Amino acid sequence: MGKLIVKKFGGTSVADAERIEAVADNVEAEIQKGNKVTVVLSAMGSSTDDLIELAKEINPEPDLREYDALVSTGEQISVALLAMALLKRGIKGKSYTAYQLGIKTNSSHSRARILDVEVSKITSELDEGVVPVITGFQGMNEVGDITTLGRGGSDTTGVALAVALNADECQIYTDVDGVFTTDPRVCSKARLLKNVSFEEMLELSGSGAKVLQLRAVEYASKFNLPLRVLSSFKKGEGTLVQEEKNIMERPIVSGISSIDSEAKLTIRGVPDIPGVAAKILSPISEAGIEVDVIVQNISAENNTDFTFTVDKNDAKKAEDILQKTSQTLGGGSIEVDDDIAKISIVGRGMRAHAGVASKMFQALAKHEINISMITTSEIKISVVIKKEEMKKAVQALHDAFDLDKELDT
Ligand code: ADP
Ligand code: ASP
Ligand code: MG
Repeated sequence: MGKLIVKKFGGTSVADAERIEAVADNVEAEIQKGNKVTVVLSAMGSSTDDLIELAKEINPEPDLREYDALVSTGEQISVALLAMALLKRGIKGKSYTAYQLGIKTNSSHSRARILDVEVSKITSELDEGVVPVITGFQGMNEVGDITTLGRGGSDTTGVALAVALNADECQIYTDVDGVFTTDPRVCSKARLLKNVSFEEMLELSGSGAKVLQLRAVEYASKFNLPLRVLSSFKKGEGTLVQEEKNIMERPIVSGISSIDSEAKLTIRGVPDIPGVAAKILSPISEAGIEVDVIVQNISAENNTDFTFTVDKNDAKKAEDILQKTSQTLGGGSIEVDDDIAKISIVGRGMRAHAGVASKMFQALAKHEINISMITTSEIKISVVIKKEEMKKAVQALHDAFDLDKELDT
């Protein structure tokens, strides 16, 4: 009996008519093998970016219900075009929006979470020999408003559908050959990984490797659904993201991620007394702003500086909140720096090895890269540095941990 395969294609993979025809060829080849296919698509090329730009021309902080109504339209275009390309090949392609299928989410517009996927419609279509082509990135909330799942959210739609359909495989097609040791666009020595554990992929995606959306990895890990990340441009096995127990390779550091999308905010001279960190951060989180790296310095004369990073898009709002907090706390000036980058090294092998952090810091020191913040988890070490040094830092760390060399295990 044939398999059921969910295939998700990203923006570059459906960027123009030619790429859409290539996706149709991919689906046709799969069907010829006797398999059933459900497709999830992103919007064409950079069309989501263009829609966001347009919204911001009207209002730099658009109403989020309307933002979702707007940005969800990108995916409607690509699914209809692919369905046409399939029909041209004699395949019963049929486009569906998340709304038509009832992909239910919570009401957090622009960053909604999937709550439930109703698959009876898709299953009956599959039984009829139809290839459902479904909009990624979007859902509907309990009052029937359109929601979106955050940037990169089509990955999560693909995974959620594969789980709900109990698919045999979930393939995530993108514009690189799979998951690399680091972003191949940042470091030319990046090496394609055959396998990555869920645990490492969670840390890599969580620290900025946008090849898979974090929630997609969380979802796949929760339901133990292996994901294959592969290129829609050339043939290859790509990368299998799966449970650790099936993976033999255990390097100290498996991957490096880098982002320059955060800003660093500092509030100077706040009193070093219990409760101050909560007083600074509570209003920030109440405003729905996610805080990433946090550093509080040792006090001098009972005053201390408090620094944290947030997404650049939230920096202005966070700064305004901090100004108010500073007045009530009797603190000093607020500084905002958005010329920063965060580099993270990730590896399960770190658990069993001491000295990983010092090796990282030595490698950065050797290249005269100054570290302004450090944070660690069990299998990850992140540093904040100057944005202009991001590429140099990634390359230095890639070399220091020999990531271009395959481990013989
Ligand atoms: P899609 O539109 O297919 O979803 P994305 O742009 O969201 O594609 O994700 C793919 C991109 O992720 C790649 O082009 C690459 O620049 C970036 N990337 C970041 N880190 C990695 C990594 N470790 N391995 C592969 N790609 C990475
Ligand atoms: N089109 C959406 C975005 O650009 C979703 C996705 O591509 O996964 O973020
Ligand atoms: Mg993506």
